[in-house]
Amino acid sequence: MSQGAADERLRLFFALLPPPPLAAALAGRAAELAGEYGGRALPAANLHMTLLFLGDVGAARLPVLNLAASSAAAAWRPFTLQLDRLGYWPRQQLLWAGLQQAAPELSDFSAYLRSTVEKAGFSIGDAGRAFFPHLTLLRKPGRTPPDGLSLTLPAWPVSGFALLASTRTAAGASYRPLAVWPVP
Ligand code: ATP
Ligand code: MG
Repeated sequence: MSQGAADERLRLFFALLPPPPLAAALAGRAAELAGEYGGRALPAANLHMTLLFLGDVGAARLPVLNLAASSAAAAWRPFTLQLDRLGYWPRQQLLWAGLQQAAPELSDFSAYLRSTVEKAGFSIGDAGRAFFPHLTLLRKPGRTPPDGLSLTLPAWPVSGFALLASTRTAAGASYRPLAVWPVP
């Protein structure tokens, strides 16, 4: 079977990447939580907030996708996020950092990116699934973390979004930025 680059398939998603000092603080908190509850803390390099998950896409379609994302980027309105909440999803066994206050600019941009990408011919699965902004910190803790764990972090003035390719290995997923759109 031919394995040429043109028929390569990539597992793609758009995400926000925390700036390095915030990623370091988040990874520090994740390591602390892993010490307390067990499980696998995400390293700083893997921390991201998914905006839109695309799933498998042929590499040949990347130029069209890039164009759609660039056009969506033009509609960006600046915003700052305050990650100030920890939550746990027992089914997925994920402990995440999130927001106490809704961030309308963030959900609006995710929705706009989605419609722009769909108009460019990409189908997004999970049509009924609502966007829930979160950033996974810890996977599969040995015991269930209690509610109300604290999270104190500097504000995050969001300065861009990225298209990432996810590779899943026995050691866990790792993500490779394919393109980044800086925003005002
Ligand atoms: P793994 O699946 O190996 O446990 P992962 O979930 O981080 O790791 P991916 O499944 O490749 O890796 O997902 C990449 C990102 O997209 C993650 O943030 C994940 O939560 C998100 N994601 C994956 N599938 C969906 C989906 N169906 N709908 C929305 N977001 C998704
Ligand atoms: Mg997954």
